[in-house]
Amino acid sequence: MLQSQLFTKTKKEFPKDEEGKNAKLLIRAGFIEKLMPGVYSFLPLGLKVLQNIENIIREEMNNVGGQEILMPVLQPKENWQQTGRWQTFNALYKLKSREGKELALGPTHEEVVVPLAKKFINSYKDLPIYLYQIQTKFRDEPRPRSGLLRGKEFLMKDFYSFHESTKDLENFYEKMKKVYLETFKRLGLETKIVEASGGSFSKYSHEFQVLSSNGEDEIIYCDCGFAQNKEICGLRKNDKCPKCKRRTIKIARAIEVGNIFKLGTKYSEPFNLKFKTKKGDEKLVEMGCYGIGLSRTMAAIIETSSDEKGIIWPESVAPFKVHLLELGDQKKQAEEIYRTLQKAKIDVLFDDRQEVSAGEKFADSDLLGIPYRIVVSEKTIKAKKFELKRRSEKKVKLVTQKELLKTIRI
Ligand code: ATP
Ligand code: MG
Repeated sequence: MLQSQLFTKTKKEFPKDEEGKNAKLLIRAGFIEKLMPGVYSFLPLGLKVLQNIENIIREEMNNVGGQEILMPVLQPKENWQQTGRWQTFNALYKLKSREGKELALGPTHEEVVVPLAKKFINSYKDLPIYLYQIQTKFRDEPRPRSGLLRGKEFLMKDFYSFHESTKDLENFYEKMKKVYLETFKRLGLETKIVEASGGSFSKYSHEFQVLSSNGEDEIIYCDCGFAQNKEICGLRKNDKCPKCKRRTIKIARAIEVGNIFKLGTKYSEPFNLKFKTKKGDEKLVEMGCYGIGLSRTMAAIIETSSDEKGIIWPESVAPFKVHLLELGDQKKQAEEIYRTLQKAKIDVLFDDRQEVSAGEKFADSDLLGIPYRIVVSEKTIKAKKFELKRRSEKKVKLVTQKELLKTIRI
């Protein structure tokens, strides 16, 4: 894509009304814009990143057997009364239709997916089944915070599993832990599996936490693998790890990007979701649920991958793979390499803007954080080479076209 045609421009200054690194950088670089606290528009570059995140998550969820659906955001009060959450879910947005009917805006979808599953699950032969969706959620958060980290409107992947036994649920739950670790790794995030309060059915739920000083959570962990959310952990500074009993525990701030729960029969009971067993009797379906915040994940990537000049996108989610800068009037050569890269199916943002100084182009490139920067200038043309630099590295290399394509393709 030609940068001269791009809808957004970078801003000279950071926004004054944002505290989080992710919001400051994303707004200044033109990835998102704020409509009101906790509510943002995704602009062309930002949407590309979000879609890349979405595609990786979708691929992983399909691989584990998930079937994608899309459920309504607008939901009747009755479903929420059925589980008691019309009263207890504090962040639930409630509204009235023109007929005076009371409705909720979906903050999570157990109240919809369970009655839905009931229409199709009859016998043990129908189980297990895995349903998921990727959808905008609404929560009236009391303190929307730090850009995309805590929104009132945000993108979530919510996955629900339905099983005939606790054992089957437990096996699948363990499998999902691995799938989650791998998914976040592909997204450029190292996550810790952290025990957190589990609700009614099991002792713990498990959170996927990314260490970050801007995180809202505090976790207590040890290199042996032990990790607990401070909310449920009685340990204090300098205590010994209760698991390996050798090392001293560490305490750090972290961002919860995912959360998985064994729900058991918590939701199948109020909706009477039952199946016929092999023996012919009726049993309640056992459930698990598995969430990932996509917009929060995008924020977490920036909180952990940026420098004083801007964002450093991991290749897997970057809006483009290559940022091609034309310095001075080198249209012919710059366009040539642009076409070559396009033919090689490499996603390129071509800074073809005239009347923008080299300094500004470099600064914009660092701010946008695209993994590879290629410069075409009088100097590189004289040398019959291209200047290549990785956003994550300091050193600049002069390379031939062949070397350039080889490096970028890997
Ligand atoms: P938190 O404890 O941070 O409020 P939660 O435990 O209520 O989150 P879940 O219901 O488990 O969240 O939602 C699944 C995932 O959705 C979370 O792990 C998080 O990544 C994301 N998420 C939840 N609330 C928000 C929000 N307000 N803004 C952005 N992402 C969110
Ligand atoms: Mg949670």
